[in-house]
Amino acid sequence: MTEPAAEHRWQLAPYACQRRTPLVHSNHTLTEALEILAEEAGFGGSEGRSLAFTRAASVLKALPCRLKNLEQLGPLPGLGEHSRRVIQDVLEDGVSVEVERVKLSERYQTMKLFTRIFGVGVRTADRWYQEGLRTLEDLQEHHTKLTRQQRAGLQHYDDLNTPLGRKEAETITQDMQEAVQRFLPGAMVTLAGGFRRGKQNGHDVDLLITHPEDGREVGLLSPLVSWLDSQGVILSQHSQKNSYEGPEQPRDGRVLDRFERCFCIFRLEAQGGLATGRGWKAVRVDLVVTPISQFPFALLGWTGSRHFERELRRFAGHERKMVLNSHALYDTKQVQWLGGGMGCGGGCGQQD
Ligand code: ATP
Ligand code: MN
Ligand code: MN
Repeated sequence: MTEPAAEHRWQLAPYACQRRTPLVHSNHTLTEALEILAEEAGFGGSEGRSLAFTRAASVLKALPCRLKNLEQLGPLPGLGEHSRRVIQDVLEDGVSVEVERVKLSERYQTMKLFTRIFGVGVRTADRWYQEGLRTLEDLQEHHTKLTRQQRAGLQHYDDLNTPLGRKEAETITQDMQEAVQRFLPGAMVTLAGGFRRGKQNGHDVDLLITHPEDGREVGLLSPLVSWLDSQGVILSQHSQKNSYEGPEQPRDGRVLDRFERCFCIFRLEAQGGLATGRGWKAVRVDLVVTPISQFPFALLGWTGSRHFERELRRFAGHERKMVLNSHALYDTKQVQWLGGGMGCGGGCGQQD
């Protein structure tokens, strides 16, 4: 990465991963408008359009001060016509008519309501919308077929849509750090996701579990989850086995990783300040188990944000001819793994 000569040049760096993107920035009104359009485009299945709005928002987040007019931006990469128009409207009128219309539309509101159910993606939400369903009560009344995960998501809808505080996330991390010792002394639990980026609130707790000795982590998750279940901690869980098969060249840097993981809903006992009025609340927790040899890549991949990860992988591919994912970094020019690919004990074929 080349260092920009002057501070203002940061704005011009074409990839989001090259720019400083502070949590608190000067253009929230604009980025919120653009992100609503990104969300709406995603609801319509237009990934390209959604990405264009996300990119525009990302550019504005990196600006050092409040934008006053479009001319200040110049020919910035990642700012399309449509986004410029929206920015112009908000700068001139305080709001964008298009964004306001989206926010008020039945379609946007319903899609938002449904996709907030744990386990419900855009396609399912869209199907329900097409079937005429509009509310959570509709889902129940029409006996809509739900997966186990979705039933739990619906049951704990309010809790799971109440932001989680950093303290709660840290408490859960601590508790899990203690719990894993029962099954694998020396195992380490690391808080990733938005909290690792410094956010004070989040929608879930992302935890990576590893052990200093490669391979010792294998087989840890299942007894751990059973034990948590027996302690009454788990309200719902959906586990996936590790399906990583080592050094086949990753073709697509965007594929989700293949670590053993468990998407859970925990029952968190209240320790002061929780507003559920019943002594506990439901909390989403992602547990991901990774061998130490892949841990740096896993940590990077699970820290987010989603857009940062996407841009980092795009940068690796386009600018460095490398493939980055949550398991490894692969150099396509030298045809070799630069780390993480096989672990250390497995005879790193192409590295010698
Ligand atoms: P929030 O505070 O709302 O939870 P977040 O940034 O932590 O925000 P998450 O959805 O928890 O968002 O995801 C954190 C990061 O973990 C994402 O940026 C993504 O890169 C990675 N991630 C999330 N889900 C998966 C998954 N199923 N497979 C692989 N990586 C994932
Ligand atoms: Mn998260
Ligand atoms: Mn998560």
